[in-house]
Amino acid sequence: MKVAVFSTHSYEKTFLEKANIETKHELIFLEPRLQASTIKLADDFPAVCAFATDDLSAPVLQQLAKVGVKVVALRSAGFNHVDLAAAKEFGLRVVRVPRYSPHAVAEHAIALILALDRKLIRAHSRVQECNFSLDGLMGFDLIGKTAAVIGTGAIGSVVAKLLAAFGCQVLAFDPVKNSDCEKAGIKYVSLDEMFSSSDIITLHCPLTESNHHLVDQIAVEKMKTGVMLINTSRGGLIDTKAIIKGLKSQKIGYLGLDVYEEETELFFHDCSNQVLEDDVFARLLTFPNVLITGHQAFFTKEALEKIAEITLQNISDFEAGRFLKNEVLNPS
Ligand code: NAD
Repeated sequence: MKVAVFSTHSYEKTFLEKANIETKHELIFLEPRLQASTIKLADDFPAVCAFATDDLSAPVLQQLAKVGVKVVALRSAGFNHVDLAAAKEFGLRVVRVPRYSPHAVAEHAIALILALDRKLIRAHSRVQECNFSLDGLMGFDLIGKTAAVIGTGAIGSVVAKLLAAFGCQVLAFDPVKNSDCEKAGIKYVSLDEMFSSSDIITLHCPLTESNHHLVDQIAVEKMKTGVMLINTSRGGLIDTKAIIKGLKSQKIGYLGLDVYEEETELFFHDCSNQVLEDDVFARLLTFPNVLITGHQAFFTKEALEKIAEITLQNISDFEAGRFLKNEVLNPS
């Protein structure tokens, strides 16, 4: 099938080409991001392959349908950037990669926790300057601390078990309890209890209309002073301005982010020669207890192999008229 692969990054092209030896699609790699102004690139393509930063809002989907697109294959697990109601209305099928490597993201969340706790980034820059002073580098033992996981699906359940292995008492919040987590001794509690009793809170639920700004000023007020907050899920889950207030008042002691509400214009691009126009992001960069990575939690060799394989298999299933096991359906 002829596939327009939008937002192609050099690092994923090789994985897609390798996986395509099996699936034999006609892949056309396009660097531009999919948005209103680039839809014409999809002219006559029955399939579009999109990344998490592509624009899949109603007007874009409507135009895609008009130029002949039938299926949108996401190279991501998250699908909050797709207007599913519009996709249904315009007859577009949407498929995603639900589970490529939960360990990739889970291990990155743990890396953020350890790096923040033991102040590894500051320590490294000091050592590079031959400053071996330990002032300001004191960390804390993870054993015995209360760590909370919001969303115990594929990724969150791995994080919960890793935290338990460090000796943390692990609390969880999820509307659907995971029996594996319960068997591992993880205790499900209410969000309020989680906020008020946790030393570390890490987010692993999808972003939906109902949980936008799940962590807002009210939530921050309920948290323990000095709490560590980690978000590798989606930026919109936290109200960044409220978090900045929490950092200024020292209610939040540590912040680790792999995602940011307004990341689309920043992440995945080299902006080092540009003036940073986002004042909220600029403020975040000034805190010594904030560690930010640019949406790289998924970025392991194993994950990229799986993403390529599953994405192309999803397109093959669509082409052959098979059941689409990874279809994203409009819930309403
Ligand atoms: P999953 O579907 O396996 O699990 C999500 C869990 O969240 C489910 O158990 C669900 O019941 C729960 N949930 C839904 N709404 C909730 C809410 N309001 N509060 C608490 N729990 C809720 O998904 P997953 O594979 O574990 O991925 C989780 C999220 O991680 C994705 O939606 C995506 O946004 C993010 N992600 C980020 C990266 C990255 O590179 N940073 C990579 C992959 C996924």
